[in-house]
Amino acid sequence: MNFSCDKCNQKVPFWETLKIDKNHVTICHKCGTKLYPIRTKSFNWGFFVGFLAVVIPGEITYRLTQSLGYTLIVALSLTITAVFGVALYTYKTTSFTSNF
Ligand SMILES: [Zn+2]
Repeated sequence: MNFSCDKCNQKVPFWETLKIDKNHVTICHKCGTKLYPIRTKSFNWGFFVGFLAVVIPGEITYRLTQSLGYTLIVALSLTITAVFGVALYTYKTTSFTSNF
């Protein structure tokens, strides 16, 4: 099962997605087992795509509108969407193992 403890099947909290990187260790809240994320390459890739998903439309918006205020609003909306999208993607694709 994705995003859960491999000892007791307790779900790891969703917000842990925002802290995950290659060396991140999560402690299971239920049984205290140290959990190491596997398949974290997808997160770095997702982060890069999320970054492009904000920068490119932001650039286009600025060129079309020449309005910094409007561009900031668009960029902020895209950032929230991208961060949530990447977090959701990580949540769906990351597994944990206690055997590192
Ligand atoms: Zn556990």
